Amino acid sequence: MLVDGSDIGQRSETVRRANLSAIARGLHERGPLSRSDLVAATGLTRSAIRSLVGELASAGFVTEEGAVRLGTPGRPSPLVRPDPVSATVLALEILVDSIAASIVGFGGVQLEHVRQDRPRLQLNVDDVVADLATMAADLRARAGTPIVGVGVAVAGVVRRSDGLVSMGPNLGWVDVPLGARLDRVLGIRAPLVVTNDADAGVLAEHRRGAAEGTDDVLFVSGEVGVGGGAIVGGRPLTGAAGYGGEIGHLPVNPDGAACRCGATGCWETEVGEGVLLARAGLAPDAGSAGVDAVLRAADAGDEQALAALAHVGRWLGIGLGGLVNVLTPRLIILGGLHGRIHPYVRDALQAELGRRALPAPRALVSVVPATLGDDAPLVGAAELAFEPLLADPAAWFGRRGAMHLASA
Ligand SMILES: [Zn+2]
Repeated sequence: MLVDGSDIGQRSETVRRANLSAIARGLHERGPLSRSDLVAATGLTRSAIRSLVGELASAGFVTEEGAVRLGTPGRPSPLVRPDPVSATVLALEILVDSIAASIVGFGGVQLEHVRQDRPRLQLNVDDVVADLATMAADLRARAGTPIVGVGVAVAGVVRRSDGLVSMGPNLGWVDVPLGARLDRVLGIRAPLVVTNDADAGVLAEHRRGAAEGTDDVLFVSGEVGVGGGAIVGGRPLTGAAGYGGEIGHLPVNPDGAACRCGATGCWETEVGEGVLLARAGLAPDAGSAGVDAVLRAADAGDEQALAALAHVGRWLGIGLGGLVNVLTPRLIILGGLHGRIHPYVRDALQAELGRRALPAPRALVSVVPATLGDDAPLVGAAELAFEPLLADPAAWFGRRGAMHLASA
């Protein structure tokens, strides 16, 4: 909430910090803005913006360029740029097929990035933690920037308060204290947050992808398992303790197959990679290369491949129909496997969605593939890691030297 700066004492300090936060957030999410843009975006006066931007510039977080005209009438206004190397975060990702790390700068610029493909079911916790630590150390040495936060996206059910992975059905993990273990091994003196990969994915698509500017969004991302994340009224839907959004384990077929979570007939047993591959006549663990083969066969008119895709499309429509009725998203974004197969399953999905969803919410919703591709969870993890800085930039003034030392 923005308040004008006329009060005194404690209250004016609170106001100043909230206003610094609004400016930092605007620059981080929207990129360089002129001082006039900032006046328009925050409702603050020109002189307040000048003084607050001056504080951010003195602290090294932004630079100001000479006055520019941005096609608007009136006086030219200096352009304020977030300095990407002034404050950076470390983002880590643990998926069933790969682990990845990146360093992202203030303003959302990816400065360093590495992804390592892993054979499935070789995600021993000790190895993953050690390998991520090595990757992180390499990236930090290359970037040489201060780290203000660490964000971790993992394909599992995560307790947000401490980063406990209570279950990663397709990683084979149960009750893994991932947050504590990474915190210890990384040795970075900055807040660390762990989140589910699809929750990170929907945040990324909302801030920087297909759902920019849309406040009711459902993200569905499948590989071996199927994850989901939702933004409702502009806010992430996390549920109690952060366990919410596990749409892959929505019970859809009481007569269906056994799921890795221990239940029967979960949605992911009808729309996950394994069922697509098996129905197309391939080994259910043939992975991404298997999916490529199914799509090539479908292009060549192979009946079995087309039938397998139709099955997944139909069951996607069935599950999404229910979710549309409950959540009324304006946008459903399909990521991972489902983004790749979207052109092949679109008709079957839409037909089933038309039969299952109520007419009014159905009329409001579009189904589109993700735009950030495989990196969406990593981008979302970075966004979460920036949150403490964006919430109170003033708390970080003067700490950049210390952060450098901590990351040396
Ligand atoms: Zn399940």
